[in-house]
Amino acid sequence: MPSTKYIFVTGGVTSSLGKGIISASLAKLLQSRGYKVTIQKLDPYINIDPGTLNPYEHGECFVTDDGAETDLDLGHYERFLNVPTSRANNITTGKIYQSVIDKERQGIFLGKTVQVIPHITDEIKYRIRLLAKEGDFDFVITEIGGTVGDIESLPFIEAVRQMKWELGTSALVIHLTLIPFLSAAGELKTKPTQHSVKMLLEYGVQPDILVCRTEHHLSKELRRKIALFCNVSPSAVIESIDASSIYDVPLLMREEKLDEVVLEKLKIENAKPSNINDWENFVTRLKNPSQTIDIGLVGKYIELKDSYKSIIESFIHAGVVNNCKVNIQWIHSEELNSENVSSKLKKLQGVLVAPGFGHRGIEGKITAIKFVRENNIPFLGICLGMQCAVIEFARNVLGHKGANSTEMDSATAFPVIDLLESQKKVKNKGGTMRLGSFPCSITHDSLAHKIYDSDVIKERHRHRFEFNNDFLSEFESAGMIASGFNSEQGLVEIVELNNHPWFVGVQFHPEYKSTVEKPHPLFVSFVGAALKQLSTKEKQAIEN
Ligand code: GLN
Repeated sequence: MPSTKYIFVTGGVTSSLGKGIISASLAKLLQSRGYKVTIQKLDPYINIDPGTLNPYEHGECFVTDDGAETDLDLGHYERFLNVPTSRANNITTGKIYQSVIDKERQGIFLGKTVQVIPHITDEIKYRIRLLAKEGDFDFVITEIGGTVGDIESLPFIEAVRQMKWELGTSALVIHLTLIPFLSAAGELKTKPTQHSVKMLLEYGVQPDILVCRTEHHLSKELRRKIALFCNVSPSAVIESIDASSIYDVPLLMREEKLDEVVLEKLKIENAKPSNINDWENFVTRLKNPSQTIDIGLVGKYIELKDSYKSIIESFIHAGVVNNCKVNIQWIHSEELNSENVSSKLKKLQGVLVAPGFGHRGIEGKITAIKFVRENNIPFLGICLGMQCAVIEFARNVLGHKGANSTEMDSATAFPVIDLLESQKKVKNKGGTMRLGSFPCSITHDSLAHKIYDSDVIKERHRHRFEFNNDFLSEFESAGMIASGFNSEQGLVEIVELNNHPWFVGVQFHPEYKSTVEKPHPLFVSFVGAALKQLSTKEKQAIEN
């Protein structure tokens, strides 16, 4: 294709309609026709990135290979496309203003009044085109966060208006909207959609395609009505019916011919047919598991499941590989103690202890780990979860009472987890953790080596604390070995137990790298171990 095409996705009526999933689904369909596609998220808030946001505010913070802390929608983009995103894929209002203000201080606009239009909108447009140039993409899909009409997203909408004007048929706007069903009237209602399109029109943007979220199918008549009121062709009114899984959405969008309409509007002829057989196979397997297992997820943000988005999706991918459905049992770390731990965990086939920050819930996590270690229940600890496994081992196996991470107890006599050397001078909180992809060498003959089948791996990180190497030989002689090591920085990346069926703690975040095409080997193996646990327990039950 001669030049990049730009697709903008806006949202109307309400938030949480799933712009990220629609964008990722369209991208998947275009990718399945052989195009090179990327997706970008523009977030209207002032934070430079979501790295300093509490998960309750924003859900999970997704980390890219290049160490950007980003919106969780980037996780969907990667899981659907199996292509890594980067810093350039997530831009916030804060980032835009920061660079415009930096330029102003450098004197780049000398003599001029710096204004929202053109300076802020120019910076937005520059960031959109930059992504296209950097990756040499056929399509850049840009998702505008928030809902049309929000004061804070206005400069983004204005940038879309300008780009549409400048690019002509090389750009189009998809507006995602809601068609609510009023049960009292027994009818689907189009008025909110009409109003949100009117609002877009007030800003000078005519959407080309409407994707309508709905609980009930849209009749032809209703589609015609929406088309008439909103100046789009009836074929450009796309139904997006509630789906049982996000992985259905690309298939539903293909049935609705979203990709065909996009190609037609962008005047792209002779596109290759789409081939998403692998995706269809994945969905068929997802819907027909032969067994179900229960895995406990111990964390402190479980009231908001989005805090663990990538972990949830990684379990779905790994379940499909193992032909089973993984039921996540949510366990609040603050509610776990030595009295109730057995009743809460004994029926589970595996336990994952989640990442996190700060003291809250830490003792519950340690209690859970003691139980799974002593009862041979498969265990995966991620980041803080791995650090808790180290603390637990120090206290209960090495006999170091009061062992802790200096994050929780700076005066502990046994600082088995301690601040990274590189963090000691860090004062600012934003974007200063050990972030992004780093290599890790895997010890031969370890469980980790069996899982990865590789000598060197690369995984993504987000932490300030690490295993304290002063204690390493003591741990190893007692049976907890470091099977993954970053030799450049001298950091333990993986710990595992010798005398346990499956006990692995990782300092990195494997959940950020699991995709439909490449389910993460650690999750696949963990779920496999949990399944084995199930069959052993079943056998024992029959024998008894
Ligand atoms: N709080 C821990 C650290 O900073 C763990 C971080 C995490 O779980 N992402 O090292």
